[in-house]
Parts: sequence; structure tokens; C-alpha cells
Amino acid sequence: MSVHLERPSDDATTVVLRVAIAAPLLGLFDYLPPSDPTARPTPGQRLLVPFGRSLRVGILVEIVDATQEDPARLKPIEKALDAGPLFGEKDLALIQWAAAYYQQPLGTALFTALPARLRQPSPILEEAVPGIRATAQGLSLDLTTLARAPKQRVLLETARECPNGLPLSDLSARLGDCAAAIRALERKDLIERCRLKATAPAAVDLSPDGPELNADQHRSVETIGEAFGAFRPFLLQGVTGSGKTEVYIRLIQTLVATGQQALVLVPEIGLTPQLRDRFRQRITGPIAVLHSALNANERELNWHRAARGEATLILGTRSAIFVPIPRLGLILVDEEHDASLKQQDGFRYSGRDLAVRRAQLVGCPVVLGSATPSLESLQNATSGRYGWLRLPQRAGGAQAPTISLLDIRAQPLQAGLSHVLRAAMQSELDAGNQILLFLNRRGYAPLYTCHQCGWVGECPHCDARLTLHLGQRRLWCHHCGWSNRLPERCPSCNGEDLRMIGRGTERLEDELRPLFPEARIARIDRDSTRRRGELDRVLESIRRGEIQILLGTQMLAKGHDFPQVTLVGILDLDQSLYASDFRAPERTAQLIVQVAGRAGRAERPGRVVLQTRHPEHPLLQSLLRDGYSGFAAAALAERQAAELPPFAHLVLMRAESPRADQPTAFLREARALAEGLDPSGVHLLGPALAPMERRANRYRSQLIVLSSERPALQRFLARWNQALHALRPPKGLRWSLDVDPQDM
Ligand code: ADP
Ligand code: ZN
Ligand code: ZN
Repeated sequence: MSVHLERPSDDATTVVLRVAIAAPLLGLFDYLPPSDPTARPTPGQRLLVPFGRSLRVGILVEIVDATQEDPARLKPIEKALDAGPLFGEKDLALIQWAAAYYQQPLGTALFTALPARLRQPSPILEEAVPGIRATAQGLSLDLTTLARAPKQRVLLETARECPNGLPLSDLSARLGDCAAAIRALERKDLIERCRLKATAPAAVDLSPDGPELNADQHRSVETIGEAFGAFRPFLLQGVTGSGKTEVYIRLIQTLVATGQQALVLVPEIGLTPQLRDRFRQRITGPIAVLHSALNANERELNWHRAARGEATLILGTRSAIFVPIPRLGLILVDEEHDASLKQQDGFRYSGRDLAVRRAQLVGCPVVLGSATPSLESLQNATSGRYGWLRLPQRAGGAQAPTISLLDIRAQPLQAGLSHVLRAAMQSELDAGNQILLFLNRRGYAPLYTCHQCGWVGECPHCDARLTLHLGQRRLWCHHCGWSNRLPERCPSCNGEDLRMIGRGTERLEDELRPLFPEARIARIDRDSTRRRGELDRVLESIRRGEIQILLGTQMLAKGHDFPQVTLVGILDLDQSLYASDFRAPERTAQLIVQVAGRAGRAERPGRVVLQTRHPEHPLLQSLLRDGYSGFAAAALAERQAAELPPFAHLVLMRAESPRADQPTAFLREARALAEGLDPSGVHLLGPALAPMERRANRYRSQLIVLSSERPALQRFLARWNQALHALRPPKGLRWSLDVDPQDM
């Protein structure tokens, strides 16, 4: 029931501020405005509010004229924290929508969207750079008195030309290192240090022109360009190297010329510095880059540059979807199939799906680009919900690589390579070409075992085996990060015959060296590229042709092109052909096509050899016969028959606890609650143990919610989630809802 406040006689309307606070509580909190009516905040503004016995940061969500609280108990806010709102109306609307869709408290969603420092009552970071300025004394000094200190004299002269101050960076660009001269002039009170407002860094080496577009690119740019100013989603499906990025660049250039801002989401920026450089060279105006590898201050400054409308292009990973952008006119999502566009913990949202929603709220086009689109987006394209643009040819006349299967049953293998593949490698090496080997398993060996008693190295905290990393002489758990020194003797029988079974990239590298002693070999995986700058260094030496054989994990499938590679060997994907996750075939096909697409260019077409013990597997067959599109059509038909996404919608409720019996018991309770809500149109499956029950000493179970109707599902979820929050879970138990989960 809502109670209308009695209107004070001197005020025309009564005002209640509804505020979100960073706490895992559903719902908003009501406050009164400050007594000074001129200090009234606007929605999207940060406030400091009394909460319990402390003061907390909150965000004003809406202003209403009624409250469901006891009006007498409402407190006024302490104060507004900033001069104005940080989120615009549509930015707030997106976050509110996302919180409701993903069943998160609005406070959690809003505070996820804020730069970390602003979740505290700190003032927003002022954009200022250090500089110097001539003092009154310095301005009137007779310069000849500095005749014997020429550097100081030039410096003071320069400073006098800019009475408002001169950034230190400008100074050193003009005069070289002048730290000593600055200190000397400072001591004489001739100059002083100051903070200057930063001007957005100007683009360097701007070269806006690109190659002449081919007919397919031209059509894509035209079609999307015609949609500027209104909501329209597109799928841009183009093989690797077909010139998708070139299409993005042309669209952004056109948009930016009209004074609007563009947002580009990518799965991982650390892996794709080339993309950022390409944008920098081609697009006028400041670019705000947002990703987790930046330090907090840089990130926040870029956030403000986007929010103030200064940055013309905002390039970021998934969380950039929430950055306020006042003049947003175009959203691009590159590699839209990539699972890392979905946040996998806490606030579990999909950057890609929110991009479509945001474009709808703002009224602008959104382009999802990929060589291997997700089945969800393909379904939206085939059903006509999304415009479908295709770039079937490599740009600039390059040829697509051919893929062939290599049956390795009953074949002798060396280093996991069949004779045919080794011979092919040798002839490429002889011709002076580069080779890429893909093995999606890092470490030396996935299994370390005692030949005498059968002991196997297992993680004490997970239901998982330990991976041997021989270089470090350690056994590592890839699930919880636990590690242990390599035992010299069997911990169980004290036997000495310990063996390494299977092969990861570290072992492959070791075993390749004697097979190809004349070749230089480089490895790219998370272990080999842990040191900062190492990945760039390796990529550079590949580009310069200093490396002949490049091997690595799925890091190779992301972002980088290796135009001089003429042969790609794909080893050991057989396991993933038979994985239990219903998305495994889709992921495997995407990996194969993405790895294959990294190789070859105009002069040197690539060839891809896929070693397998299951050459008759329907996935491999359809991929080879009909390419990714053929595979996708077959996979979509299977999903439809099995009533799986995108033909049904899934929600996963997860529970985990240090006690094995608790998660399943709690999920049973959750299920009973759901059944009490009359969940028509919604099916419940489980609870069941998670595929790996114990991880980092926590036992995990899950309950699946399935529905073919999104609105019915959303209505049910909202009521269920409310009821779930009223449950008292046992101590130590954590639970979560994952709407549209990626991993099951
Ligand atoms: P994608 O993003 O689809 O992988 P890119 O836009 O990176 O493709 O293009 C691949 C390569 O082809 C780049 O080196 C790019 O400069 C070049 N390229 C793109 N479009 C053309 C074109 N129309 N003519 C010639 N070269 C092109
Ligand atoms: Zn043993
Ligand atoms: Zn573990």
C-alpha cells in the first residue's frame, strides 16, 4: 500500500527520492530530498545517504510523490556527491532493464556499471595534467640575467609565451629533458608548478583512407548506413579476412562526421592491440579504451570522456556496454560468438545481448560481426529479425584455406603427429613457409600416474586431475589454481616409475625440437605469455618471419592473423566432439574455423589438416562439406528437435557450499517454491550435481529452468527470485541465477 505524504503548506509537491544502494538487496530505498530546494538531485546522480548506522553511496533512480514506508521514518539524504548525474536517462533505463532481465538487484547492476573508485564517496577524477607557469617575478625578469644558463633561459621564455601554463609533456617534446632547469627556475621563484586541464590527445598519423571497398563490403556499409538514426540489428557474417573491420571503420567514420559517438565491444582487448591501432589511425577524434588491464585511473578518465561526449569512439570489453554515452549512434560487437562477452560470475549479463537492447532503447543500428556467428544470432538472421549481411570472400583477392581430415586410426604417431602431417610440415619448411599447430591443452601432460600402483595426481580441493608442468616441476590444478611440487616417488606406494600420460603444448614444443631441429619454434598459451609484453614480442617475431613453427592453444584462434602461415595442423579435438555440454559442437566448429582462418593470404593460400580418430563424425563431415554455414544449419535443426536454445530459453540456478549435502537440499527447496508459484509454461529439471561436483572445496549442484516463451519465463523468474530472496540459506551456501547461461 502506498501512502501519500501530506503536503507541507509551503511546498507545492512532495518529493520522495528512490535510491539504489550497493547491497545484495532487491528493491530501492526511499529518502527525502535535502531541505534546500535548489540542491535537489536528478536521477542518475550519486548521493551520500544514511543507511543503518553509516553513510553509504547511493544512486538516485527516480523521484516519486509517494512511499510505501512509514513517511515519518524517512530520512533526508546527506548530500549529493557530484554536480550532476553520472548516468543519463537512457543509460539508467538500460541498467534497469538489465537488472530485471538478469534478476539482479538494481544496486548491484548500477554499481557494477560505475568505475571502482566512484563506488566510494570519492569525488570524480579531474582530468588534469602537470605543467608549469611563469610566476609574476618570472614574467617581469630581465632575461639577460640568465645568459649563463641557456637552458633555463629558453625554458622561461617558452613559459612566458604561455601565461596560462604549459604541460610538462609539451615542454619535453620541444626542449628535451629539462627537469634540472625546471628545478633551478623553481628555486629562484621564476616558475611554479600547476595542474592544467588536459586536452584530448590528438590522433597521430591519421590516415583516414583505406582500400577501395569490394562489392560485398560496399553493400554492407550502404545498408547499415541507411539505418542510422533508428533501431535496426544486423548480423555481419564474414569469413576471417573478409574485411569486416574495414566495414566497421567506414561506418564509424560516417557516424563520427555527424557528431555522434560509436561503441565497439570486443571479447578481449589484450589480445587485439592491432584492432585498437587500426582505429586510432583511421578515425578522427579521441578514442576511449576500456578494459580491465588499464589502471583504475586511466579507466575512470576514459569512462568520463565517453560520458561527457568527448570520445568519438568507445572501444571496450563487455562492461563497456554500461558506459554512459550521450550521443550514441552505432553499436558494433566484434566476434559476437565469443563466450567471454558473457560475464560468468556476479552480475551475469551478456554484453552482446545488451548491445541489442541498448540500440533499441537509444534508437540506433547495432551490428554483430563474426566469421562464425552464434547459433542464436544465426537464428535471428534466418528468421528475419536481424538484417543479414554476408562477406563470403576474403578481401583483396586472398583465398580461403582448404580444410581436410586426416584419419589417424592405426597410424604411428610421433609427438602426436602422423607421418602425413610431418611430411607436409617438412615440405612447407623446405619452401620457407610458416606452420601453425593448434593443440587446445596447456601444460606438459594432463595426467601424472604411478605405473606400479595406479596412483593418479588429483587436486585435493576439486574433482579434477592435476596437470603436469614440467618446466616448473609442479602439478597444477587448472580449476582452482592449487599446485604442488612434482613428487619424485609415488605418494601412495613409494614406487619410482611415475609416468606422464597425454600431451599439452609444453610437451609438444619439447618433442617437436628434435623432429625439426632446423626450425625455430614458438609457443603461445597462457603459460608462455604470462610475462607482460611477451605475447607482443612473439607476435612480432612471427611477423618478421623469424619463427617457422608456431604452436599454441585457443589463444591462437583470437584476433591475430598469420598471413605467412601456409599449413595449419589441428591436433586432438576428438574429446570436444563428444563433450556433454550441448554447446560443445558449436564451440568446436567455431574453433576449427577460427584457427583455420588465421592462416594464408593472397600470395600464399593456406591449407588446414585436422587429425582425428572420428573422421565420420557428422559435425566434421558437415563442416567440411558445407562450411560453417552448413554446419550451423544442421546444428540448428538438432537444437530445434531437442528444444534447446535458441528454440527454448534456459536459466540455471546454481548452489554451492562447503557441505556436500546442502546444495541439492537447498535447490529442492527452491524447486518446491517454484512449483508453489504455478509455473505454467516453465519446466524445471533437477536439481542435479554440477558436471564437476567439487571445486575449490565447494560442492555444487544446479537446477535448470526451461521455457519456450520468454515473457512467461520472465514473469515467473521475477516472482521466484523474490521468493528465493526470502529463503534463509544455510550458512556458507551461495546461490545464483544465470539467465541464458553459456556453460552448463
Ligand atoms: P576481418 O575483420 O573480416 O578479419 P579485415 O577488415 O581485417 O577483415 O581485412 C583483412 C585484410 O584485408 C586487412 O589487411 C585489410 O586491410 C584488407 N582489406 C580489407 N578490405 C579490403 C579491400 N576492399 N581491398 C583490399 N584489401 C582489403
Ligand atoms: Zn604407486
Ligand atoms: Zn583444484
